[in-house]
Amino acid sequence: MLGTMQDWPLLVTKIIDHAALNHPHRKVISRSVEGPIVETTYAAVHANAKRVTGRLLRDGIEVGDRVATLAWNTWRHLEVWYGISGAGAVCHTVNPRLFPEQIAWIINHAADRVMITDLTFLPLLEKLAPKLPTIERYVVLTDRAHMPETSLPNAIAYVDWIAYEDPATPWVSVDENTACGMCYTSGTTGNPKGVVYSHRSNVIHSLAAAQPDMLGLASRDTILPVVPMFHANGWSIAYTAPMVGATMVMPGPKMDGASIYELLTMCKVTVTAAVPTVWLMLLQYLESSGGKLPDLKRVVIGGSAAPRAMTKTFRDVYGSEVLHAWGMTEMSPLGTVCSMKPEVLMLDGEAWLDVKQATGHAPFTVEMKITGDDNVEKPRDGKTFGRLKVRGPAVAGTYFRGDGADAFDTEGWFDTGDVATIDANGYMRITDRSKDVIKSGGEWISSIDLENLAIGHPDVQEAAVIGIAHPKWDERPLLIVIAKPGRTPTRDSILNYMDGKIAKWWMPDDVAFVADIPHTATGKILKTELRQRFSSYRFPNLSD
Ligand code: ADP
Repeated sequence: MLGTMQDWPLLVTKIIDHAALNHPHRKVISRSVEGPIVETTYAAVHANAKRVTGRLLRDGIEVGDRVATLAWNTWRHLEVWYGISGAGAVCHTVNPRLFPEQIAWIINHAADRVMITDLTFLPLLEKLAPKLPTIERYVVLTDRAHMPETSLPNAIAYVDWIAYEDPATPWVSVDENTACGMCYTSGTTGNPKGVVYSHRSNVIHSLAAAQPDMLGLASRDTILPVVPMFHANGWSIAYTAPMVGATMVMPGPKMDGASIYELLTMCKVTVTAAVPTVWLMLLQYLESSGGKLPDLKRVVIGGSAAPRAMTKTFRDVYGSEVLHAWGMTEMSPLGTVCSMKPEVLMLDGEAWLDVKQATGHAPFTVEMKITGDDNVEKPRDGKTFGRLKVRGPAVAGTYFRGDGADAFDTEGWFDTGDVATIDANGYMRITDRSKDVIKSGGEWISSIDLENLAIGHPDVQEAAVIGIAHPKWDERPLLIVIAKPGRTPTRDSILNYMDGKIAKWWMPDDVAFVADIPHTATGKILKTELRQRFSSYRFPNLSD
């Protein structure tokens, strides 16, 4: 027997319809690429999204076609984000921080037909265009007055492109399983792999993301997603904020400490989200300027581990709660958020911070387990490490064009490539990427735990730990450190600081001081390159 309820398709266009109808005057405030701060509303974003749909249809875009964006977080990006899906097409957000060859490879692999971009990226695209045969037209997110001369084929200013379209253009009717968005993993090993989101997966993901134990977003909130829309589905904030009617603040191209601080205070932002490097810049700015954050309630930190010292500073100095989050492109992207369950609610001080170091617990829509290499499930005791596997309605089931099939098993579990522990309350802690974990004497050492600890030393700006070959133990940890400007920490002061806070056999065998640590295009430490740089390194104490 079937239920008697309506079959109301879960379409992302219904999110912006809802926002325009129920929160029409709620603001979307952006730092524009041209410079000035621009205010608009959900009602106006909705109208322009419909114009984008109208224009794409007139340009011959069909259901399933890919339309690329190479753009910062602005109201215009939000308009095309919905307008593309409204045409039944797939909004493919491309990450401009990748190498140009990788950008070209991704666009060709996706076979994008239109490229919608910001003024910032015209020089890059002018060089790449001859290598992008599938792109028929370039739309520049600006008006006629700011549109420069360009060699790009069929280039047009966005405002002109949609000028004569009807703001009541109907969305193209599609099934909820139709593709609506696409994002490539940054592919630190091998080629990038395409993840294709459906309308349904994005709606379900956003319903989960808004929940009190996840981002806890409400119409009363003002959210500043510093995380770019081209990172991992923009952490789904471009769906979740209009779904609940929260005010959005978009940083445009400026993500330095001073610019973010200006928006946080000027717009009275209550929730913000970004990778740790962004918060490092903000905290450094606040320290030097003496700025305060009176309105900021929650800071979502993910993409890489949030250092304990960062969580503590936000709490103790600025009165903001860090929500440590873990996820990935393949998970739409939220997997877990570290909010407090009743079992840990009474904790404070260092014990509270201990819990906050976890990457959090899963919402209803994410199933998690840890297994050994033999695929047998490991206990949820908070101590045993295992390969982290996930499944759920907003988790990738395959990659675009069938790439990377070995990450998915026959029971629908996706191997995240992360190593983690899960405790009896369901709190998960990422201890490493499976390829970065340090295997010492048959046991595993978490490079992330060591990095987090080292960064708590007052003279350490950034820390990375890699495994170095060792004749007796297979591998031992080497701690690589950038000192804070004007400080000169010694090997012994750092190791003494770490002593007693970890098991003896986890202590790094040596500390190397460097001027820079390489990062991926999504802000993660590029361990492959670090391992290469230190490939001829030998521990000084190897006589034993
Ligand atoms: P990309 O692989 O393109 O850089 P993703 O966002 O898909 O981008 O990366 C996902 C990976 O980032 C996760 O598998 C995990 O290794 C890492 N990661 C994400 N959040 C955290 C976190 N809070 N702590 C530690 N690692 C994290």
